[in-house]
Amino acid sequence: MSNRTDLLAANARYASTFTHSDLPAPPARRLAILTCMDARLDPARFLGLDVGEAHVIRNAGGRANPDALNSLVVSQQQLGTNEVVVIHHTHCGMIGLRDDAMQELLTERFQRPIEPQQYGGFDDLAQSVRDDVTTIRADARIPEDLIISGFIYDVETGRLTPID
Ligand code: ZN
Repeated sequence: MSNRTDLLAANARYASTFTHSDLPAPPARRLAILTCMDARLDPARFLGLDVGEAHVIRNAGGRANPDALNSLVVSQQQLGTNEVVVIHHTHCGMIGLRDDAMQELLTERFQRPIEPQQYGGFDDLAQSVRDDVTTIRADARIPEDLIISGFIYDVETGRLTPID
């Protein structure tokens, strides 16, 4: 069963009272959030962000991978953001995920050649935040005066903890 019908019905209700027609594309708070795709994370709500205030770049783990870095560069150079917040979270599915295990699982499941990939798994949650902050800072396309901070979000309490 697909979600298609329910999604369209929910969207019709949303659009019937839509009030954000005049928003400009550049985020009002000049802010980009990099975080995990995990369904338990609702960054707009747990950070108090309104529509139009921030870019939210999401992938598995909230990792600063090449695609996320490209998005940050576009966010900064084309849409004027000057601050990045990296948020990883407790009980993330990427903790302990191994590229070779994923490779093996896919090859077995699909019975065809699968190109090896880097999926971004990690073992140490706080270190993964530090690593991504470092990766962003080290990219030659990132301005030196970029404001950047890292946090861990606790899926059991809804609380953010700064990572230095
Ligand atoms: Zn996650």
